[in-house]
Amino acid sequence: MQKLRWHEMTAPEIEDAVREGHDVIFLPLGSVEMHGPHMLTGCDTYIAEALCLLMARRAGGLVLPPVHYSWPGATRNFAGTIRISQEETTRYIEAIVRSLVEQGFKKILLVSGHGGYRWLGPGFAREFFERTAVPVIFMDVGMFRDGPQLSRVFEGKDGSYREASLLLGALHILGKDGLLDLSGVQEDVAKQPTPSFGRVARYGVIGHDCGTLEQHVAPRKDASRDKGVEYLKLLADRFAQLSSDLDGYLEFLSKKQSRS
Ligand SMILES: [Zn+2]
Repeated sequence: MQKLRWHEMTAPEIEDAVREGHDVIFLPLGSVEMHGPHMLTGCDTYIAEALCLLMARRAGGLVLPPVHYSWPGATRNFAGTIRISQEETTRYIEAIVRSLVEQGFKKILLVSGHGGYRWLGPGFAREFFERTAVPVIFMDVGMFRDGPQLSRVFEGKDGSYREASLLLGALHILGKDGLLDLSGVQEDVAKQPTPSFGRVARYGVIGHDCGTLEQHVAPRKDASRDKGVEYLKLLADRFAQLSSDLDGYLEFLSKKQSRS
């Protein structure tokens, strides 16, 4: 079977794979942070990596080693979180993307499993295009909301069920079943009341930190590995459909550039 993971390939193997059409490059973006009392600090990275592998299989691509360290968001005061700033995160991602562009790659996808990137990723993709004319794509697992098939998978379930299921599914896809066992999880941990700024979130944004482990993420022992796998596979299928749109857009851009 075709190898897809960049850091498990030799340089000539990468050159051959690209020549044979594996020219979409996926960069998984994760975090190193506390994920409740029950989930792994690498949760977001595993989810991004598994999704990238599925997408690369369907769209003909290669998967770079993931970026683990990033701006966490609200978990900096807990053991397990490594915090770097938004600016450091963006500059590091930009350095990786620039190196890919210098090597001639045109189809570059940044795939995030971490909510913190929803603040940085879109701005980076838009501004990088203005400066370089390279249309890098940024996507986040939580940003795909379209399509009844997708929303049906976690219908009636909350975010904590969804994320635990995605992690179980991702570990399965990566051949790491057994790294996470939720059977002994205590769900009845006393939760602190939601801080009074909660209503602001409906209208805007306010600086905040999590006050308890359970605020990110509430323990769930009923999470479903199979639903996690199903959701990630559906996302990858949808991406495979988008991939031809990207070819068309690149063609449009190159015609436009050759005219100007
Ligand atoms: Zn997470």
